[in-house]
Order: sequence, then structure tokens, then C-alpha cells
Amino acid sequence: QEINLVVLLDEIVQRYSKSIQQKDIKFRIENGPSTVIYSDPNLVDLLMDNIVSNAVKYSKEGGAVNISFQQVEECLVCKVSDEGIGIRSEDIDKVYTPFFRSDALSHKKIGGNGLGLAIVKKIGELIQVHVDLQSQLGKGTQVNLSFPLAGFQN
Ligand code: ATP
Ligand code: MG
Repeated sequence: QEINLVVLLDEIVQRYSKSIQQKDIKFRIENGPSTVIYSDPNLVDLLMDNIVSNAVKYSKEGGAVNISFQQVEECLVCKVSDEGIGIRSEDIDKVYTPFFRSDALSHKKIGGNGLGLAIVKKIGELIQVHVDLQSQLGKGTQVNLSFPLAGFQN
């Protein structure tokens, strides 16, 4: 099914509007070249929801969250970056493990089950979305999601 990622993201951001307001997060979604993909709407919703949820939850007060799009070859790459607490380098490879939560001091105060990114990874495998995460402790995190533009039917 046809999914416009910007339309979907606007919807998802609404779900977190209370936290975004409370933390005074500057949330920006940049309209890309074309943000339409063909995939399973429920799975893409769950995937993006978990990424946005993390960006908001781990943002610092007054931080910015930026979402941008870029076409790279046959893929639509969606970049979600935050200026939050970041992840220490030795934990980055573990974030997709079910129930893993960083025990860095700044992370311990924030609640969660450690399942969001495990779900993201699993959905990525199901619908052929490549997920790549970069982060620096204390500085922020960037998640790149690479959606195939053609050739996937569900
Ligand atoms: P939930 O199951 O509610 O999503 P969670 O957010 O703790 O719980 P994941 O989304 O799987 O679980 O993330 C795993 C861990 O990776 C988090 O506990 C956190 O330590 C780290 N993490 C994920 N995203 C970010 C981010 N944007 N900024 C900083 N740390 C992050
Ligand atoms: Mg999460």
C-alpha cells in the first residue's frame, strides 16, 4: 500500500505532542523529494513510532529533533536525529537486543522495556528496511532508515 512518510510522521508526532511540549522539543520534519513508499502501513507505523518515541524520550529539555529525507539510488533514506543523551559507544551494538537498556547513568532515570529497537530491527527484516544507528554519549543520536522505493510488494 502507498504510504506517505511525512503524513504518517505528522500523525505519530501528534501521539507524542504532550511530551514534545513539556520538554520544549523543537520538532522539525523536512519535506523530501518524494516521501511515498509502498509497504505494510501497520508495520511502518510501528517502526517509525518506536524511532520517534526514542527521539522524544531521550531528548534533553529544549533539544531539537530533525527528520529529513533523501533519495539514495533505489532507496528513500529517512534520517531521524536528536540532540539527546546519546548512547555510549560500547552499548551501540547492543541496542537491538530484546530487553537491552543502557545502564549509563543518564539512561537509568528514563523508563522503558528495551523492546522498541528490537521491534524496529525485526520489522526492518520483514519489510526490507535497513536500519543504521549512530550516536555519541551526551551529544545525540541519528537513525537512518533506508526504505526500498520499488520492488517490494506486500
Ligand atoms: P521501549 O521498549 O519502551 O522502547 P526503550 O526505549 O528502553 O524501551 P529501545 O527503544 O529498544 O528500548 O532502546 C534500547 C536502548 O537504546 C534504550 O534503553 C536506550 O538506552 C538506547 N536508546 C535508543 N534510542 C535512543 C536515543 N534516541 N537516544 C539515546 N539512547 C537511545
Ligand atoms: Mg524505545
